[in-house]
Amino acid sequence: DKRIKVAKPVVEMDGDEMTRIIWQFIKEKLILPHVDVQLKYFDLGLPHRDQTNDQVTIDSALATQKYSVAVKCATITPDEARVEEFNLKKMWKSPNGTIRNILGGTVFREPIICKNIPRLVPGWTKPITIGRHAHGDQYKATDFVVDRAGKFKLVFTPKDGSSAKEWEVYNFPAGGVGMGMYNTDESISGFAHSCFQYAIQKKWPLYMSTKNTILKAYDGRFKDIFQEIFDKHYKTDFDKNKIWYEHRLIDDMVAQVLKSSGGFVWACKNYDGDVQSDILAQATLQCPPSRAWCQALETFDKSGQAPVAPVLSDALGEETWAKRQLQQVRADGKTIEAEAAHGTVTRHYREHQKGRPTSTNPIASIFAWTRGLEHRGKLDGNQELIRFAQTLEKVCVETVESGAMTKDLAGCIHGLSNVKLNEHFLNTTDFLDTIKSNLDRALGKQ
Ligand code: NAD
Repeated sequence: DKRIKVAKPVVEMDGDEMTRIIWQFIKEKLILPHVDVQLKYFDLGLPHRDQTNDQVTIDSALATQKYSVAVKCATITPDEARVEEFNLKKMWKSPNGTIRNILGGTVFREPIICKNIPRLVPGWTKPITIGRHAHGDQYKATDFVVDRAGKFKLVFTPKDGSSAKEWEVYNFPAGGVGMGMYNTDESISGFAHSCFQYAIQKKWPLYMSTKNTILKAYDGRFKDIFQEIFDKHYKTDFDKNKIWYEHRLIDDMVAQVLKSSGGFVWACKNYDGDVQSDILAQATLQCPPSRAWCQALETFDKSGQAPVAPVLSDALGEETWAKRQLQQVRADGKTIEAEAAHGTVTRHYREHQKGRPTSTNPIASIFAWTRGLEHRGKLDGNQELIRFAQTLEKVCVETVESGAMTKDLAGCIHGLSNVKLNEHFLNTTDFLDTIKSNLDRALGKQ
């Protein structure tokens, strides 16, 4: 057995639909022929989650804590239609949410860049990282519709028994809408620390954007907390690294980002981060030949509250950058869970069920495996394993750069309506086979 020996196990979380099929191929044909690793297998496919009353999801997260490395296939988050389709006992919660609740931590997102995919924002030659504060604000707001005249008040009742504070927000002459929202010092501070640390690690300047000219108390608090923490804990390190921290008004920041060449971290409030990371994602869909890349990092508060996922509409569908994104949840710097940032690609799976060929991009799922294995390699000091993971990643990128790719990528180059099977793109299995033979060749086994 000439395979690379891996001393410690990796947690494998299997998933659903099209990605489950691809996952199987990756494991059997790309990983296990070359790597002798003990996989702690958890079947997070929806039928098995239902059978185990979702215990399998919890067990997989606990195993991740134990072994420090997990690779995850995309999974169905059930809605009413899925409850019916799978005859579920219950509308089980999102496995990703459950896992993050247990692991906590920060999500890093990073695109996989291929030189031959043309760029949209020519100026962005360096990376832009978005740090999104994924706690509170609009995502935990109480909002309501008012259907008649009346007063809208806010009341704060201190726990210590001191007298309540009251604000009149609006005196409605007729129907309208209202909202109350919040955030906490603890969560804002945690967000600030992770952004400052990330900036130092990358040696990039950090900008934090708010609308403090309008929300003087609310956004002002964000600005103040960041400044206090910066002055107290990070200024010296920033100076040493010749980087800086500055607060920016959100509108100024957006203009600056568009004109910039990248190379900074942008700390965004929850809603801004939601919107802006999708804009960055779309724009870097087309990547410069200099292999620039962009990352979005999203922090989670201790309760593990996940951000609202960017909406991937089917209209954007195939041309969306997100499908090539890789996502890693890092709990404590030691533990990581790596996964593709797309879903189970149901639309393709329906075609597959009808016996029709599909062209589903497996690269983000492959990178989930390689990032997991690379991390295992780092923890164990296994250079051979790290080299293997890096080789497989390189093979994926070079395969696309050689012109062999799936339909979504071909669409980025030629326009979706113009692309033809085999002339411009390969079907799912042919593409995977191409990756496999390129990998075997790269590893000198052919
Ligand atoms: P999706 O990401 O599966 O697909 C949306 C569209 O994007 C597809 O129709 C396709 O056009 C394109 N696309 C996505 N990945 C692609 C790939 N690898 N290759 C080619 N094209 C790709 O999102 P969805 O359709 O909204 O959700 C399908 C299922 O996935 C749902 O049940 C949802 O709950 C689940 N989901 C899981 C995760 C996760 O596990 N992390 C994330 C999102 C959605």
